[in-house]
Amino acid sequence: MNQLPLAIQGGAPTFLAGPPKWPVADDAIGKSIDQALVSGEWGIYEGELTARLHQQLQSEFQLDHSLLCSSGTISVELALRGVGVKAGDEVVLSAYDFPGNFRSIEAIGAVPVLVDVVANGWVMDHEKVVAAISKETSAILVSHLHGQAAEVDAIAEICRPRGIKIVEDVCQSPGGRHQGKMLGLRGDVATFSFGGSKLLTAGRGGAILSNDEAMIQRAKIFAHRGNDAFPLSQIQAALLLPQLKKLQVRNQRRQQSALKIADAVNRLSALSSVTRSAYEDSTGSFYKLPVLLDANSSIDRATFLDVIQAEGVALDIGFRGFAKRSKRRCRRVGSLSNAISAAENTMLLHHPILLTDDDQIERLIDAIERCYRYCLNTCLET
Ligand SMILES: *Cc1c(COP(=O)(O)O)cnc(C)c1O
Repeated sequence: MNQLPLAIQGGAPTFLAGPPKWPVADDAIGKSIDQALVSGEWGIYEGELTARLHQQLQSEFQLDHSLLCSSGTISVELALRGVGVKAGDEVVLSAYDFPGNFRSIEAIGAVPVLVDVVANGWVMDHEKVVAAISKETSAILVSHLHGQAAEVDAIAEICRPRGIKIVEDVCQSPGGRHQGKMLGLRGDVATFSFGGSKLLTAGRGGAILSNDEAMIQRAKIFAHRGNDAFPLSQIQAALLLPQLKKLQVRNQRRQQSALKIADAVNRLSALSSVTRSAYEDSTGSFYKLPVLLDANSSIDRATFLDVIQAEGVALDIGFRGFAKRSKRRCRRVGSLSNAISAAENTMLLHHPILLTDDDQIERLIDAIERCYRYCLNTCLET
């Protein structure tokens, strides 16, 4: 007999009282804020703290120039403007991506062009890119999503000879490495988010980084209207500085937990996740760990999520994707079947659990397995 999830039996969730909290406020952050208060730096528009943040971001992410801004969403728009995207241009992006990315292209008056993602994955399929390019294409927006790295080198081989600029969206994956190389170094500019749920957080905030100083300058000219229209404050910088120092250690721990959970998920026939082999010379930066439900499974995604959320597990649906957006708003390339499938079948585990201890991870795996068996059984009965 399979053990029922206790929450379904009317008992308390077995797994946790609730998902672990994020962000974790620690002494280093407290001290940093205290220093900003005592020195009066918190009342200054730009000062020592924002200057140190520029410096630390540049050294951590190995890029020479940066612009701080108010969100990841505006960082994407500033990056697109910085590389020269204008009204009427086309910008290629994945049909499965962060919803705001579509809007950031539209905000410039440019037209989103949708390409498919890889099969059973979440990042752009580089083999679909050539077919997406027209003479109006000025840039391509490539996101590293759910711990999976996009093949930006292959995309660059197509785009560079044609003068098409590459914006790498690193909002979900700061500090991640692909084939030994830091994410954000293969494109023309990298975008970062410091939103409340993100791996580096000031509640709000963002940045763009690039080796192209002129590109950063163009973005800055757009953002500065006598004053900075999309600023990141000194107090936000004070929050971020201590977190940057912990990013690599935390990314390693998150990857360790993520791969352990993914191994367990991959043993369940109707579910799959990332595979360990993809991380041999890469480091995933796991803002979300993806869990894909087999499209042919008898398990219903909404039911599975209800059951597992009742157990206190922070698993939720993935992005809705853009494949159903009106043809007046975008141009589609091919059937987009992988992106449609990703939108229908993806579930995402929120990252805070990944920093907990082995015991919690074992209990999480146990909860996933129990809920899975419970759903399989109830689906068979009905
Ligand atoms: C969160 C996110 C953004 C936007 O960042 P905000 O700070 O929330 O505006 C952009 N792209 C991706 C891939 C994201 O996950």
